[in-house]
Amino acid sequence: MISAPESSPMIEIRNVSKWYGPHQVLNACSTQVAKGEVVVVCGPSGSGKSTLIKTVNALEDFQQGEIIVNGISVGDRRTNLPRLRATTGMVFQHFELFPHLSVIDNLCLGQMQVLKRSRTDARARGLALLERVGLVAHASAFPGTLSGGQQQRVAIARALSMDPLAMLFDEPTSALDPEMVTEVLEVMTDLAREGMTMMVVTHEMGFARHVADRVIFMDAGRIIEDCPKSEFFDHVEARHERTRLFLSKIL
Ligand code: ADP
Ligand code: MG
Repeated sequence: MISAPESSPMIEIRNVSKWYGPHQVLNACSTQVAKGEVVVVCGPSGSGKSTLIKTVNALEDFQQGEIIVNGISVGDRRTNLPRLRATTGMVFQHFELFPHLSVIDNLCLGQMQVLKRSRTDARARGLALLERVGLVAHASAFPGTLSGGQQQRVAIARALSMDPLAMLFDEPTSALDPEMVTEVLEVMTDLAREGMTMMVVTHEMGFARHVADRVIFMDAGRIIEDCPKSEFFDHVEARHERTRLFLSKIL
């Protein structure tokens, strides 16, 4: 795989549109995420946030436009999708761990199948990541025995086990009990501080304020705000009416 030059964005979304039948769910969306940048995506339910983030990982297709991740075109039929997905680790609202595999086996599977690592190497990498998210003591446990916050930390460790160049999060804390939100946001904050490129769909505006570089606001399939977080939060009066309405409900 050829790495993109330092100056080109890690993720580039160019004029992407998507329809489900007659229903347009993404409308000419364009944005870029630079290497090391953290971008929060927010907006009302049904505005297309999940769809947008999933197109970056080729979990959703799109009919118009182009998405380039680290110099590789996502929509190109010749792109090796399992490898592409490994470059952009995805974390979902409902964890999506394999329930029949232990925590450590959840972390080994992709490394062995996609990256062709030996079981020994995959295990060593998996244990190091579990250590990092504070769960090494639970390596042999099954996901169902862990709390939601612990399962989400396992899911983050699993995504990291593929050595991704960027991480995509789709409402990673919205299915968690309130007391577990912080432990997950702390892991995400550490990742951001270490320089990980991140696209995060979340309504945790505290996280956006403290950790994001930029905030995107979506409404009805369109990106209607895409600005530095200071502009987003400190100049609310200059924002689109839809954005102000949204912020007035959640801030
Ligand atoms: P968000 O994540 O912002 O809540 P989504 O990306 O999940 O929004 O959905 C955007 C729009 O696409 C919604 O109107 C939703 O109903 C529609 N949609 C999502 N998935 C499908 C699907 N598989 N088939 C048809 N419509 C869908
Ligand atoms: Mg969603």
